[in-house]
Amino acid sequence: MAVEKSKNFITDIIDAHNESGRFDGRVHTRFPPEPNGYLHIGHAKSICLNFGIAEQYGGLCNLRFDDTNPAKEEQEYIDAIIEDLRWLGFKWHDRVYFASDYFDELYEMAVELIQIGRAYVDELSPDQIREYRGTLSQPGIDSPYRDRPVVENLALFEKMRDGGFNEGEAVLRAKIDMSSGNINMRDPVMYRILDAAHPRTGDKWRIYPMYDFAHGQSDSIEGITHSICTLEYEDHRPLYDWYLDNIEIFHPQQIEFARLNLSHTIMSKRKLIRLVREGCVRGWDDPRMPTISGLRRRGYTPEAIREFCEDVGVGKVKGVVALHKLEYHIRQDLNRRAQRVMAVLNPLKVVIENYPADLVEELEAINNPEDESAGTRPVPFSKVIYIERDDFMEDPPRRFFRLAPGREVRLRYAYFITCTDVIKDETGEVIELRCRYDPATRGGSAPDGRRVKATLHWVSARHAVEAEARLYENLFTVERPEADAEVDFTNFINPNSLTVIDPIYVEPSLAGAQVGERYQFERLAYFVVDEDSTAEKLVFNRTVTLRDQWRKVRKQGRKPGKPGRRKTARTV
Ligand code: ATP
Ligand code: MG
Repeated sequence: MAVEKSKNFITDIIDAHNESGRFDGRVHTRFPPEPNGYLHIGHAKSICLNFGIAEQYGGLCNLRFDDTNPAKEEQEYIDAIIEDLRWLGFKWHDRVYFASDYFDELYEMAVELIQIGRAYVDELSPDQIREYRGTLSQPGIDSPYRDRPVVENLALFEKMRDGGFNEGEAVLRAKIDMSSGNINMRDPVMYRILDAAHPRTGDKWRIYPMYDFAHGQSDSIEGITHSICTLEYEDHRPLYDWYLDNIEIFHPQQIEFARLNLSHTIMSKRKLIRLVREGCVRGWDDPRMPTISGLRRRGYTPEAIREFCEDVGVGKVKGVVALHKLEYHIRQDLNRRAQRVMAVLNPLKVVIENYPADLVEELEAINNPEDESAGTRPVPFSKVIYIERDDFMEDPPRRFFRLAPGREVRLRYAYFITCTDVIKDETGEVIELRCRYDPATRGGSAPDGRRVKATLHWVSARHAVEAEARLYENLFTVERPEADAEVDFTNFINPNSLTVIDPIYVEPSLAGAQVGERYQFERLAYFVVDEDSTAEKLVFNRTVTLRDQWRKVRKQGRKPGKPGRRKTARTV
């Protein structure tokens, strides 16, 4: 992994600590997911930041699951998070922890706060607690249970622990300030009763600490120096500080940064889980999802995701990063590493009339022009081939340089061909082209120096392998599906986010391609072999198109999809 010395406001703070000696030069971070869903690209930013900073300073980064809410957390999520982190390329060695490992200690801390008169058992109902809390403009009201004596609180907290109350009948609250301008400080709940077994502690507990009571102390227990989190926790910092100060334990420094938002998608587990449960996508790892597992299945590389995170940087200003920035990074990476192959998605049959019926030639194709060591491969050529339907127009407009009646073009790695005849069915649709080839142009150049304006990809019909292609578009039709609180984000789901083409025709070298292998289908897009592939049939996911078509179209001020939108069909 490239250990780039990134500089940002967080490293400035760490540098200052290192100078003042606050943490004796130690840098220890952590990535603290709650296992209530799969990781998404926003988490990747936090992951790269926490692991990256540890690496940059020669420090450590823990993985810690903040598993304080058994009602929402599952082993499936823990396993998926670990798999995604490994895939991204980060290592925590044996430093994987769980907030639930600290349930005993947290319980002791709660008892301590009761003993010093800073916590009490409240028997108001959840609704009453909400009511008494007040609003942003109105102070809260003290609970009638607020001034219970310590001994009573100790006994009642034990009773909560031992099953003497039902869910919702009692909570343990910190005694701070019901009139605080910061609502988080208005006697927040520390412990609640939950009749749920925990994935790790089983039936041992029926009271569970609130996230806010567990998070800061977990960091403290682990000796975390810099607790990096997103801006919405800024208002929680005084509370974390209050707990640490009153319990008198080691005090990490919390630092908040702006969370990553990406256009045309959503980034909240609560909403992503709805997409899965309501069947809007095929699962957490659907290639349209902004999850790490979805991006992996879509064909993204860990390197591209990390480059993207580095590129967007860290700051304090909220904003939305355009999705094409992420796509730019995967294009850059795949351009370097993906093998080129030829595939035809929307076939038009071409018969080369003067090519011998039984002849098959093996032509040499370059695997990756960006990487000489990738070598070449043979591609069979024969009398009947498929070209892309879009590469032919019977009556071409001025800027269309590809195949048309009477026109000569190059077949990639093969020959120049000229269209001599167009065959249509009874509805007038073109179903076949007749062409002639020039044997002297083998390999793609003419000895007499004549030029053609287009090079087309093709597949020999006899040798073509049938496969399925899944083409993905943005999952949402608008840039910010979550922006309007009044309109549910599912209203903006793009009904055309998946197009399946079956069959497509791919060159025979792809037979036996393995799940996860990434290819560039020349002139079309990058594709990856999907796990739904079988021995009989390969399934390819389109990772990303070759160019940012939308951006280009916008620049030209035209709408996507208009004929003749490409200036030229010329390739490399
Ligand atoms: P979500 O809103 O998606 O449920 P979360 O914050 O509840 O996210 P956690 O599992 O608590 O999810 O997140 C683990 C870490 O990842 C936290 O430190 C959190 O701040 C960070 N994180 C979550 N979402 C983003 C994001 N969009 N950009 C950057 N960091 C994020
Ligand atoms: Mg959270």
